Amino acid sequence: MQWDLSGFIVRFAIGLLSFYLAGATFAFAGGPDSFVEQVAGGTYVHFGEVSLTTKQNMGDIANLGIVVGKEAAAVIDTGGSAVTGTALLAALRRVTDKPLLYVINTHEHPDHIFGDAALEAPGVVFVGHHNLPASIRAHGPFYMHAFRDILGADAMDAVRLVTPSLLVNATTELDLGDRKLRLTAWPPPAHSDCDLTVLDEQTGILFAGDLVFLDHVPVVDGGVKGWLALLDGLSSLPATVVVPGHGRRVAPWPEAVADTRRYLLTIQRDARTAIAAGVPLARAVDTIGMSEQDRWRLFDDYNRRNATSVFSELEWE
Ligand SMILES: [Zn+2]
Repeated sequence: MQWDLSGFIVRFAIGLLSFYLAGATFAFAGGPDSFVEQVAGGTYVHFGEVSLTTKQNMGDIANLGIVVGKEAAAVIDTGGSAVTGTALLAALRRVTDKPLLYVINTHEHPDHIFGDAALEAPGVVFVGHHNLPASIRAHGPFYMHAFRDILGADAMDAVRLVTPSLLVNATTELDLGDRKLRLTAWPPPAHSDCDLTVLDEQTGILFAGDLVFLDHVPVVDGGVKGWLALLDGLSSLPATVVVPGHGRRVAPWPEAVADTRRYLLTIQRDARTAIAAGVPLARAVDTIGMSEQDRWRLFDDYNRRNATSVFSELEWE
């Protein structure tokens, strides 16, 4: 997701210690790792906390991926701070000695891109939706400012937004050496204005970015109608397992999209009902989506904002 966090100085210290230990023991052996889990041969996931961004978790709240081919490796998203990006790079170095060729960002939100600069190096190509550069230009300064208060000046001094040089207009295939990634740029607006998914064709693992949420309530920062409109196409991708943008597990595809779809349909229906009945926004936000309250974590942190966004989107349709 994006802007918030919670619970991590101790966890981070323990994590750091165990990963130095793990690194020492399992360097390049592909063995157990405390930062990433191997979900298929050559495919690794770091599961971020289901939390708002906080000083304690340093923005480590989104799920990140590593895919390793015969010739090269790619990472998918980089986390919500340079600390997380650096940890991802360290994990990459533990699981493979292949060069990092691509850093793929699934969209513009800080918890997915603030680690980018930590992975910048000669030969590394940054990849994103064709709208990603415009989104970074439009919202980057706000994110950089807003997160100073949450993460602190020191952490933010290490964050630099990287504009992708390889842009995806519809679909693009990246080859890591007998390992193809199929990138799809979805029509905006949906979760955001620049949603990109990554399908690891060999294993059938789909990195859905924030088009799919599990456990963590979906967050609407683009448009509910556009998001719902792309779900059929997304569901038809030949994947078997999805890594959601948020939620600490993988799940069977396409079944795993059902929760996100149900939540979006619910808030869309409730907003239309309120608008048709002439209920003003200030009161409608207390009703929209409330039947979903017990189904999601962080519901109280995001549902009212989603309700406001959806109401505004649908008010003049
Ligand atoms: Zn996110």
